[in-house]
Amino acid sequence: MHYLTELKSKNLSKEICVLRVDFNVKDIKDALRLEASLPTIKFLLKRGAKVVLLSHRGRPKSKKSLNEFSLKFIAKFLAKKLGRPVKFINHFDFQKIKEAVIKAAPKSIFLLENLRFLGGEEKNDAELAKRLASLGTFFVNDAFAVSHRKNASVYAITKFLTSYAGLLLENEIKSLDKVLKNPRQPLILILGGAKISDKIGLIKKFLNKARHILIGGGLANTLLWTKGIDIGQSLYEPKMSGIAKGLIKNKRVVLPNDWLVYKKQVLDIGPLTIQRFNEIIKTARTIIWNGPLGYFEDKRFRRGSAAIAKAISRSGAFSVVGGGETTQLVLSLGLKNRIGFLSTGGGAMLEYLAGKKLPGINALK
Ligand code: ADP
Ligand code: MG
Repeated sequence: MHYLTELKSKNLSKEICVLRVDFNVKDIKDALRLEASLPTIKFLLKRGAKVVLLSHRGRPKSKKSLNEFSLKFIAKFLAKKLGRPVKFINHFDFQKIKEAVIKAAPKSIFLLENLRFLGGEEKNDAELAKRLASLGTFFVNDAFAVSHRKNASVYAITKFLTSYAGLLLENEIKSLDKVLKNPRQPLILILGGAKISDKIGLIKKFLNKARHILIGGGLANTLLWTKGIDIGQSLYEPKMSGIAKGLIKNKRVVLPNDWLVYKKQVLDIGPLTIQRFNEIIKTARTIIWNGPLGYFEDKRFRRGSAAIAKAISRSGAFSVVGGGETTQLVLSLGLKNRIGFLSTGGGAMLEYLAGKKLPGINALK
C-alpha cells in the first residue's frame, strides 16, 4: 500500500488530487470528521497540488432531500479553516468540472456535491468512478469511515488512478493495528450502544484477546434479559438470545450489577457498576471503547458513560475510542486530547477490529 506521506518531499504543483474524504456529518458541530480531514488537505496544498474533494452525506432517498443532504455548508467551514476559497460545485457535469479544475491555479480547492445524489456511487459503478478519476492526476482515500463500503469513489476509482492512503487513513490503520496486533496486556474492551448484533464480530474477535469485556447500554440489556432479569420496556434484541447465552457464561464478560430504571426502562449503569468498571479500567494497559453505556443524550442518563470516559482518560493505558455517538460524547466532555486515538469510523472501525478486510483499504494495495 502507498501512503500519501511518501510524497512528503515532492513538488505537486502540476498535480490534481482527487481526495475522498468523509464529510458524513449531521452539522458543523459534528466536528471530529471535519477536523480530521484537514491535515491531508493542508499536506496537499503545501506541496502545491489542486484538490478535488469528494464525499457523501447521509442517506438521501429522493430529490426532496437534496437540500437536507447537501455538502454546501462544508465549503464554508473549509474555507475558514484553510484560509483559502473553496469552490463548491453543485452539479455533476463532469466535462465542465474538469475544465474548471484544469484552468484553476495550483492550490485551488473544489468540493463536489454529495456523491450519493448519484445512483452509481453506492453501486460501485465503474462509469462514475472513471468520471470522478478524470478530474485529477492521482487519488487519495482519506475516508476511513466509509472504507468498509464498496462505493465508486472509494473502491472502483482506484482502478483508474494511482492511489494512496491519506494521513487520516494511515493514522486510523496504524492506531487500530496497535490494539489489534500484539496489544499491551491487559487489554480491556468496553462496549455499549444500541445493538449487540452490530458488535458481535468485535466481541468474538476479542473474546480470547481481552482480559475483560465490560458491557453496558442496550447490549447489556440483551444479556441481562437472557439471564432472566426483568428489564421491562428496555431496549434489547431478543433475536440475539442464542449468542447471548454463550456470553453470559463467559468469565471475561462483565455485566452491570446495578442500573438506573426510568419508566420501566434500564437507561444507564448504576454507581456500583461504575465503581467496578473503574477498578478494572485502572488495571488496563490497552483499552478499546465503543458505544455509550446508557441513553446519554438525556443528561440524567449520561453519568455512566461520562464516568467511563473520564476513567479511560485518567488511565495510563493506550486507548482507542470509536463510534459516532461515543466520540461525540468524548468531544462534548472536552476529553479529546486525553484519549490515545479517537477513530472517525463507526461501522468501519467495528469491521476493522473484527478482523475483516475493508474493501476501500484493500483496493489501495
Ligand atoms: P456508537 O455510534 O458510538 O457506535 P451506537 O450507535 O451503537 O453507538 O449506540 C448509541 C446509542 O445507543 C445512543 O443513541 C444511546 O442513547 C443508545 N443507548 C445506549 N444505552 C442505552 C439504553 N440503556 N437504553 C436506550 N438507549 C441506549
Ligand atoms: Mg451510532
